[in-house]
Amino acid sequence: MAVLLGEEGHRVTLLEQGATISPTLHGFCRQGVYFDTGLHYLGAAGKGELLERVLTRLGVYESLRLHPMGPCFDTYRAVGEPGRHADYRVGREAFEEGLIEAFPREGEAIRRFCAMVGGTFPGLAEDLFAKADPLADLVSLVAPPTLADYLRELTDDPRLRRVLSAPAVLHGTPPDQVPVRFHAMVAGSFMQSAHYVEGGGRALAAAFGERLKRLGVTLRCGARVTALELSPAGAMRGLRLADGSRVEATRCIVTAHPRLLLDWVPEGALSRGFVRRQRRMADSISANVVYGIAAGGLPALRGRNLILDPGTDTGTDWHWPYFLSACQVPEGDPVGFSLILAGSGKEIPSRTNASIDPRPDGYMVSKCEAMGRAEAFLRAHCQDELGAFSLVEGATELTFRDYTNSPAGGLYGIRHTTKAWGHTPDTGIEGLFLSGQAVMAPGVLGAIMAAFITCGRMSGCGVTARIAR
Ligand SMILES: Cc1cc2nc3c(=O)[nH]c(=O)nc-3n(C[C@H](O)[C@H](O)[C@H](O)COP(=O)(O)OP(=O)(O)OC[C@H]3O[C@@H](n4cnc5c(N)ncnc54)[C@H](O)[C@@H]3O)c2cc1C
Repeated sequence: MAVLLGEEGHRVTLLEQGATISPTLHGFCRQGVYFDTGLHYLGAAGKGELLERVLTRLGVYESLRLHPMGPCFDTYRAVGEPGRHADYRVGREAFEEGLIEAFPREGEAIRRFCAMVGGTFPGLAEDLFAKADPLADLVSLVAPPTLADYLRELTDDPRLRRVLSAPAVLHGTPPDQVPVRFHAMVAGSFMQSAHYVEGGGRALAAAFGERLKRLGVTLRCGARVTALELSPAGAMRGLRLADGSRVEATRCIVTAHPRLLLDWVPEGALSRGFVRRQRRMADSISANVVYGIAAGGLPALRGRNLILDPGTDTGTDWHWPYFLSACQVPEGDPVGFSLILAGSGKEIPSRTNASIDPRPDGYMVSKCEAMGRAEAFLRAHCQDELGAFSLVEGATELTFRDYTNSPAGGLYGIRHTTKAWGHTPDTGIEGLFLSGQAVMAPGVLGAIMAAFITCGRMSGCGVTARIAR
């Protein structure tokens, strides 16, 4: 967003509460090993594909080194049923083949599913950029049926339904709520291609940081916004920061969680409809995450993630799968890995007022217990891939809540459901807009698409030319 505005000659200041820009992407080091926090791989970043084109258009692609994941970028495994697994392979035909190998009797259903996904992405995503008002098309993305309803109609095999639902971890809305086309757009970007960034999310954040500096954008980290100031006529006038200072601005684009606006603007400034919608909207899943180091390297996770389904039955109950990925490196085998255990969502309600420093009594105990459970799971189910390993760090739902300032610790902002529509940049306040993955679509591609859409909305024109330029 800041790149697009900087390019248009606006005087832009980026305010970030964290110590670096894009802290979600930034990752961290332990024992000399780098761990990614908010980036494992990218869909549709191959030559000529959508993400590659937008990153090029934004002037950051040339600073990045992207490498393809392996031909099988994700493997689904039902941990309760040893030997039952399915490969997600790159490219529509290979993707179909991988699934048909696992479900030889379900060829027809798999072909229909892949045709639906392939017909949604990249076509629909590219169309969005070609429209003067892409929001109308975004509405079509959240039309029924839900993924769960679509799959029930597609196949009687509950195992296949779970395999086709598992990539819901990439957007964080459960299958019985997520619109099937929305799911298809996210899953379809990876079906097209899967790449990792050399140097991880930190390298991506650095590439954006350099580009912003070249454009003369002012970067202010450690700048926590606490309120927005409006003119007597109700238009954007400035922002107040936690250190007591203020920043003048007649236009403000919020990429933080949209519900924060309810605390930031004076009462009555937002329409009742907007407030009601924000209160009603649920967040995408949160998670506990553990980070570890494998003493002998991770050849089995080179270029491939494992999606581990802890469901032990073959019924229709939905269990969020766990996501095991290595911190990919171009030479040799990776050694660092993380396991994302999609959250139960129970921690935050029970610790609503928990502070970040100090953490409340009992927090470290429950964090250690959660890490212990994750370790036991890895030793029971992933010993072949990990060999000898030790866990070196952990993050909880509270970590995500506090470090991203997302009220429920959601990994990808709000939930996108067939019932709740929250994807518009408009707030009803003159000069105040929403953007980012928190409101529109998950992931790096979702956040960048959101930037183009918000930018188009602000200047009242289409966005195609912005990409083509
Ligand atoms: C565990 C995890 C794994 C992920 N894996 C992938 C992946 O493999 N591939 C992929 O494409 N994407 C992935 N993502 C998503 C990806 O990280 C995001 O799409 C990306 O960070 C861009 O998001 P954004 O800029 O819209 O939002 P954010 O990165 O959340 O930016 C919003 C910013 O607002 C700041 N903020 C909040 N409140 C305030 C305030 N009061 N004042 C000032 N600043 C404030 C926050 O600190 C934050 O930096 C993952 C995310 C998570 C959490």
